Amino acid sequence: MIKKILIANRGEIAIRVMNTCREMGIKTVAVYSEADYSSLHVSYADEAYCIGPAPSAESYLNIEKIIEVAKKTGTDAIHPGYGFLSENAKFSQRCKDEKIIFIGPDPYAINTMGDKITARKTMMDAGVPVVPGTKEPITDLDQAVKVIKEIGLPVMVKASAGGGGKGMRLVEKEEDIISSVKAAKSEALSAFGNDAVYVEKYISSPHHIEFQILADNHGNCIHLFERECSVQRRHQKVVEETPSPIMTHDVRMEMGKHAVAAAKAVNYSGAGTIEFITDDDLNYYFLEMNTRLQVEHPITEEVVGVDLVKEQIKIANGEKLMLKQENLTQRGHAIEVRIYAEDPDNNFMPNPGKIEHIQFPLGPGIRHDTYAYNGFQIPIYYDPMISKLVIWGNNRTEAIERMKRALKLFKINGVKTSIPFLFQIMNVDSFVKGRYTTHFIQNNEQELKQREKTPEVAKDLAAITAFIDYTNKLEKVKTEKSEDIQTSKWKDYGRRNALSRL
Ligand code: ADP
Repeated sequence: MIKKILIANRGEIAIRVMNTCREMGIKTVAVYSEADYSSLHVSYADEAYCIGPAPSAESYLNIEKIIEVAKKTGTDAIHPGYGFLSENAKFSQRCKDEKIIFIGPDPYAINTMGDKITARKTMMDAGVPVVPGTKEPITDLDQAVKVIKEIGLPVMVKASAGGGGKGMRLVEKEEDIISSVKAAKSEALSAFGNDAVYVEKYISSPHHIEFQILADNHGNCIHLFERECSVQRRHQKVVEETPSPIMTHDVRMEMGKHAVAAAKAVNYSGAGTIEFITDDDLNYYFLEMNTRLQVEHPITEEVVGVDLVKEQIKIANGEKLMLKQENLTQRGHAIEVRIYAEDPDNNFMPNPGKIEHIQFPLGPGIRHDTYAYNGFQIPIYYDPMISKLVIWGNNRTEAIERMKRALKLFKINGVKTSIPFLFQIMNVDSFVKGRYTTHFIQNNEQELKQREKTPEVAKDLAAITAFIDYTNKLEKVKTEKSEDIQTSKWKDYGRRNALSRL
């Protein structure tokens, strides 16, 4: 029986996991780097231990240190969250060796799905459609030219060990084949220490549609429907929604069956995601499997009504899945936006800094998965995501309108954020109509740059900035010269002015 879980992660996902642990009466252990001493996950846990300096390699990726804390604290299980060690087969094995439950699949599934060439072969054998392309790695440049001509341009050259959009090159012209293969190989080598690449046909008008699956250790495996993740910037998801606006009932059922077959092919256990790429006609192909909880898992939770972290913990505990495929349904519509500390008006430059003031929108259908608080200094060392804003509505139109309301009311002062950009996405015609592909951001660049459609956001933010500036000044003056406050005319004027604009 799992009584204590160490969360080998930070930020919003650490808090997310701890929330479920609390509900299940499970004690939590946080680990943190020196840069994260003031991070919310540290105070949120029952116990917290510093595991090293700021760079991830010396802290959140330090397997030995994490195992040491787990043993010292009598931890029964480790939840890896996403990123960091979540898809590290060595870590999963190390936990096994130490008789600590790894909340995730065993090393075999991680290894098989972690290598894209092996994963493609395994899927072909399991009868799951894969993108037409090479079965073996490309060994030399002459061979690359030959196979790419056979497949037919355009193609994607992809790193077998790839992830996070790295080691991937779109090749459209014959003369670019050699330079693209070389570039993909060298990027793969420096990012993953493995330069194996393969080639896939480029799917035009692509949609990224993924299926959530859950599998227990008793041979049961179900899917929890799809998530549409086609709003991407540089192959990274920006907005996710479920159900997919282009999905039909029949294709959903068929894709769901293939997702389950994919998981069963590697004897999967736990929560996982099968990613597919589809074209406009809903022909679909396996892309990859993520053997962990996804960033965008909350939208499935909202629509299907299942706590995925709770299911992960129950499965890790050896329990049988109680959820039955035939009883699962999708209720309403959910959208998630990833709010980053970055400047959308300056090429999305990361903008970490101190959150002077944060005010979350409230009301029906609004969920925040976040670790931000007033005064929190966002460290420069990690992903600058501040919050995942998750909206549920009875239908897609309601969810979009609710998202617009929530984004308008979301105030973050002190750092620049992607909020105005995300708000603009909700206004673009093809998004509103649900007719968009992974080229959405590229295709709507100009419209997404516009800010005048969001006067409320600008006005509200200006007002709140003025108000906070005022209160900060007031605080300062209070401590310096408290007797002057009542009589100071400019301060009174400033306060009234700021409040009237709010
Ligand atoms: P990573 O593991 O690096 O995230 P994926 O294989 O999951 O790489 O692909 C990331 C994104 O790249 C996809 O969501 C899609 O937008 C695009 N992509 C990948 N393969 C293809 C393809 N064959 N055709 C068109 N787009 C693709």
